[in-house]
Amino acid sequence: MRAWPTRRIGKERKSDILPQMLRRLASDYALDGEILYKRRKDQVLLRCVDAIEAKKILEEVHEGVCETHANGFTMARQIMRFGYYWSTMEGDCINYAKRCHKCQIYGDKINVPPSPLHVMTSPWPFSMWGMDVIGPISPKASNGHRFIFVVIDYFTKWVEAASYANVTKSTVSKFLKKEIICRYGMPERIISDNALNLNNNTIADVYSQFKIRHHNSSLYRPKMNGAVEAANKNMKKIVGKMTETYKDWHEKLPFALYAYRTSIRTSTRATPFSLVYGMEAVLPIEVEIPSLRVLSEAKLDEAEWIQSRYDQLNLIEEKRLRAIRHGQMYQK
Ligand SMILES: [Zn+2]
Repeated sequence: MRAWPTRRIGKERKSDILPQMLRRLASDYALDGEILYKRRKDQVLLRCVDAIEAKKILEEVHEGVCETHANGFTMARQIMRFGYYWSTMEGDCINYAKRCHKCQIYGDKINVPPSPLHVMTSPWPFSMWGMDVIGPISPKASNGHRFIFVVIDYFTKWVEAASYANVTKSTVSKFLKKEIICRYGMPERIISDNALNLNNNTIADVYSQFKIRHHNSSLYRPKMNGAVEAANKNMKKIVGKMTETYKDWHEKLPFALYAYRTSIRTSTRATPFSLVYGMEAVLPIEVEIPSLRVLSEAKLDEAEWIQSRYDQLNLIEEKRLRAIRHGQMYQK
């Protein structure tokens, strides 16, 4: 049996061309287990999807959470940004937009900046934070602290918090600078509710200082704010347990945050940690009793380890997309 067809193409036989083509394909694509990636020009890998997945992606990008109803060219660029690829994506995007009923009826009018209705949907991690104060807590911590200032990212449900004797304008301002802006960049907006243990002038001053848009959550339908309220409630539960158990609860706060960040949130069906870092945290127990994962990672040399981190980071978009989808279903 012949391995390659021997039909002649010009002077070269096809058997000479095929290995060449395969070599080129191999440099454009990367295979990791069962998953095929397309290598972008900047070396970022895009996950290759099948027809069914592609259809889902088209729907999500065009009329999903943000309902952009963008044109085909914009859609294709967005999908690449989300980290997906298939060989006919641009054509499929153009066809999809052409066939969209709403696009046909409303034409260009529909493709306008997000309306206030979309305000409560965070488009990207760290763009929108919810702010809350827990306290006064009784008994006070051994260092006199009785308030915990909590800030939660709407998208990943990542949480930052610190304890204080009193929550003042300067503590809020310092916290936002040090724990939020310097770590996660400028938030686009911050949401807090009326019941916050802070007076409104304090908040207004801080926001104008940083030019952050502020929204009072009570002005929005509670349903839209549900995810963050649930997160706050859970955080309060964890903190509550902690303050009952420990006199020096201010010292246990980082562990409570860690517990929260590494447990699966109902609203995203993922841990905040995995949505932020693209991998699960190694739990302290895994370090004490080395798990297979710790052992296998300990054996990796640096180059391999870096490669596997790149792979995880390329997949982070997909995880986030899944979280958006799940968040939508959860709200419904
Ligand atoms: Zn449309």
